[in-house]
This record gives sequence, structure tokens and C-alpha cells, in this order.
Amino acid sequence: MAVKNKPGDRTGTKTKVPARGRSRRPFVIDVHAHVRIEGVIDLVRKYISESKHDLRSWNDTAVLARMAKDAKNPKSKHTNPHVRVADMDKMGVDMQIVSMGMPGTCSWTNGRTARAMTRACNDGMAAFVATYPDRFAGIGAVLLQEVGPAIKELEYAVGTLGLKGVTALTNVRGEDLGEKKYWPFWQRAAELGAPVFLHPLGFTQPDRMQKFLLFNTIGQPLEEALAMSSLIHEGVLERFPKLQIHMAHGGGYLPYYSGRSDSAYERDTETRKNIKHNISYYMRRFWYDTVIFDRRMTEYLVEKVVANRVMMGSDYPWRQWDAVGMISRSRRLSKAAKEQVLWKTAARLFRLSV
Ligand SMILES: [Zn+2]
Repeated sequence: MAVKNKPGDRTGTKTKVPARGRSRRPFVIDVHAHVRIEGVIDLVRKYISESKHDLRSWNDTAVLARMAKDAKNPKSKHTNPHVRVADMDKMGVDMQIVSMGMPGTCSWTNGRTARAMTRACNDGMAAFVATYPDRFAGIGAVLLQEVGPAIKELEYAVGTLGLKGVTALTNVRGEDLGEKKYWPFWQRAAELGAPVFLHPLGFTQPDRMQKFLLFNTIGQPLEEALAMSSLIHEGVLERFPKLQIHMAHGGGYLPYYSGRSDSAYERDTETRKNIKHNISYYMRRFWYDTVIFDRRMTEYLVEKVVANRVMMGSDYPWRQWDAVGMISRSRRLSKAAKEQVLWKTAARLFRLSV
């Protein structure tokens, strides 16, 4: 893979996006879309028996076997770029920022195996994006259980491969992301201007979430609220003002229940230990996507954190729904706000020349 730019050289990572021609509809960028890298799945299946980590039901060998089978299907929406582009055309999406949920799937691994998995993910992502460079931009991945190698992989993904940022899991084997030992990673991401996409997989204490997909529907928004609360309360956002964090799924529960956190900030000194402002203030320091499937909640999120922090997302190919129409047909969002959400905010964050 050719060296495209050095770490920190933001100008070198600009991606040229094709002109919109005569189309009257607005340009649309989908910031939450997943691909599957076959090499990563193969490595996970090879090494998973080494794991002492308690694998949850959503990451067990049967799930992995299904993933591997799908990856070999020539028409898989997860792996075939041509099938994907045809779907994007149907959905009215001009460009996807693609990522892989690899940090969740590989959270149990260490050392050389972990490095091989992240490298397979990042090289695979760069190769996938190269199939349609005008339709895809890629996000790499890091595993934060070993901070030094995670920083090296971030530099490789962004600096060498020209990917637009990296994905990380919302916790590190149950530890929260605001803990001091992770600060060198946040510092380097801020220095590089590399957005970090925080995406959950299930919940770390899922005992009461075993049925009805509750690990996903209830557990993941809780994970997101905890990850944001940790980064805010431990002072990470205060310490690294240039850090760019993209929270999946509208930031989980926190933006919709922030009154409780703000009230505690006023009342209890414990909550003010490391920060100078209330939680709603720091909420405007994150970026969010609209994978929340509810127009009123999306409109509320835009009011709460401003449209230049909210970006259209679909969760393709897990869901194929009218993610664009939810924004474009809103009666509450202004034309300017819709443009921000549909593409302008993403173009700025991911340095796309639109
Ligand atoms: Zn997702």
C-alpha cells in the first residue's frame, strides 16, 4: 500500500468526492456502514480457542461460522463492493464511511495475535475502499488493551494507509475509556486529527440481557452513555480539546437523559472533580450519527448538540431503511441543518473535498 501522507498531515488525506452533476437531491454521506474483512474473521476463528475471555453469545463460534460463510458468499452485502454500491444508489447515498466492528469481535486477544488482526483489518479496509474510491472512505480499527501497539496501528491506519480515522470499542474488557492509562492514545489521536469512532458490542454485564436481543437494544445505548460519561468525567475532553470522538447510535441514552447528569453536576462536588462545565456542555464536543431510527429523537439531538455535530448513518448492511428520508422529510429541521446532517458535517470531520 502506497504511503499517502505522514501522521498529522491533514491536508494529505483529503479525498476527492465526485461532483453531484444535475441531481437536485442533496449530496448524502452515510457515516455508519459496516464491511466485513474476511482475513480478520479467519484469524478470529483460528485463535478464538486460545481465549480465556468469557465470550458472550453474540461472539461465539456459531456466530463466527455464520460470518465466515457469509464472507465467502460472492453476493454478500458485507464484502461485495458492487452489491453495496447498487444498494447505496437505491438508498440515495453517494458515499459511505465504512468501518468494521472488529474491536468488539477481537476484544479478547493480545500481543502478536491482536496486532495481526488489526493489521488484517486495516489493510483489508484500505483494499476495500480502493474498489470505489469515489464512493467509499474507510475507518481503520485499534484494540486498546495494549496502548502502545494501538498508537502504532493508529499511525499506520491514518498515516500510511490514508484511512480517515479508527474504530475502538466502548470499553476495554470492562474498563472505561477515560482511565489514565488510555490517555496516550487519546493524545495521539488528537495530535493526528484522527476521528475515533466508538462502537459498542453488547454490554459488559449482560446477565439480565440474555433474551429478546436486549444486549443490543438496551445494552449498547447504555455502553455508549457510559463511554461518554467516562471520557467527560475523567477529564479526557478537558485535557485534549482537539480530540474528535464519533459516538455511534446518537450517543446512546446520554443526550436524551442529560438533565439528570447536569443536575448532579450542580449538586454534587464528586461529579465536578475533573471538569469545569456541566455534561451538556461536553456533549457538544462529540460527533454523533443518526442510527436511532426515530425522527423526533434525531431532531432533538440536533437541537441539543447543533447540526454540525450530527451525521447521517444507516448501519448498512445490518439495516436497510429510509435513513436519508428520516432527515430530508423532517419538518422541524431547517434546510441548512439537513445539509449539515446529510453531508456537510461528515465532509468536515472526515476531510472529504465535496
Ligand atoms: Zn454499527
